[in-house]
Amino acid sequence: MVEKRQPIQIDEAINKVMQHPLSPKEESVPLLESVGRSLAVNLYATHSVPPFNRSPYDGFAIKSEDTVHASRDLPVFLKVVGEIGAGFVFNRTVRNGEAVRIMTGAKIPDGCDAVVMLEIVREHGSEQIELVRSIKANDNISFKGEDTKEGALISKAGTSIHPGIIAQLATFGYSEVPVFRKPRIGVLATGSELLDVHQKLEPGKIRNSNAYMVAAQVMRAGAVPIVYGKLPDDLEACLAMITDQMDDVDVMITTGGASVGDYDLVPEFINRLHGKTLFNKVAMRPGSVTTAANLNGKMLFGLSGNPGACYVGFELFVKPLIRKALGTEQIHHAKSKGVLGADFLKPNPFTRIIRGRLEEENGQHVLFPSGLDKSGSVISLAEAEVFIILPAGTRGFERGMEVDFLLLEDQKGSEETWKTFSKL
Ligand code: AMP
Ligand code: MG
Repeated sequence: MVEKRQPIQIDEAINKVMQHPLSPKEESVPLLESVGRSLAVNLYATHSVPPFNRSPYDGFAIKSEDTVHASRDLPVFLKVVGEIGAGFVFNRTVRNGEAVRIMTGAKIPDGCDAVVMLEIVREHGSEQIELVRSIKANDNISFKGEDTKEGALISKAGTSIHPGIIAQLATFGYSEVPVFRKPRIGVLATGSELLDVHQKLEPGKIRNSNAYMVAAQVMRAGAVPIVYGKLPDDLEACLAMITDQMDDVDVMITTGGASVGDYDLVPEFINRLHGKTLFNKVAMRPGSVTTAANLNGKMLFGLSGNPGACYVGFELFVKPLIRKALGTEQIHHAKSKGVLGADFLKPNPFTRIIRGRLEEENGQHVLFPSGLDKSGSVISLAEAEVFIILPAGTRGFERGMEVDFLLLEDQKGSEETWKTFSKL
């Protein structure tokens, strides 16, 4: 007998998943290996930046009071008493009537309160400079702490480490960086029609593209995929694989066999493993036959075998779980608004998630479906950079209408949940 499934709304499904979070764990990696990883601690400035008053230009450090009356008619002459290169310090206090030649990045000598740029002084040999205008106190000085003060919070835990954060980490002496451990995500494809990637095509068969697509999505989300390849539609074989490997992963994903047909094994193996099904149908297209279950405290996702549906199921339900384990609250995709570049006239009782392409026309985001908009389409996924969200309802959508979309490649994410989407 075919079971009757109750669809739940997307945000409700996400909430159910997020009630079973993975706890973030820390590890330490060398500075450059931390690029793209999630920072595990709040980063505070352990000293002011710059750590001392310094010169932003090549020029002369002076006492501004010496130049108060300087003019073209009454030039001021200062005696050059030394030179400071970047990394060096001048060893005494500068007195009235003196100047010190100074290079970009060098510490301002005691007694000086301004720098005159090389270009505006006349040099008389290396001994003397002539100034024909007055210089204000504090001119051309990069002050200690002007970039950041000691003790300031400069980056938050959960931030994805990019070059700007690498600069902060290097500035404060982190040759090793505390990052959140990447969760390990098992990926198993089921289906007797599946061939391995290296195998030759045979009648009735297709290559297992989902396992690798999902593995790549796992990587993009910041986790480590453990790919188990494919198994035929054989309950015992799938059960054996899952029971064997469950200890080795934080989350298990299967693709294929999640529906209610004769060879759909997902409901069966959740039963046999005494799992608790959180949902097995979501009010969305594609991906309505997405299953999430908890097996002894670990999450198992049974994603559809249809590539488009599988792709969407991962992004919506698995990615936030991974993001949470990486210590961020911005677990959802960044959202924005744009106008439809094509008609979607067929109304749908379920929310539609169209894999799409984003263009810019007259300063406006315009959204186009990428290729064949069918859940079974695999080729058009390559173009997908956004999900166009068409709310469920009794009407269709016309070109030019404003809709929400989600960014798939964005690293920052958003805290905003599906609840806030227009007319959901
Ligand atoms: P299923 O969810 O098992 O009913 O499969 C739905 C559709 O997706 C069928 O056309 C399958 O052949 C196809 N499919 C299932 N698994 C994969 C896979 N790993 N890679 C590519 N296509 C698949
Ligand atoms: Mg199948």
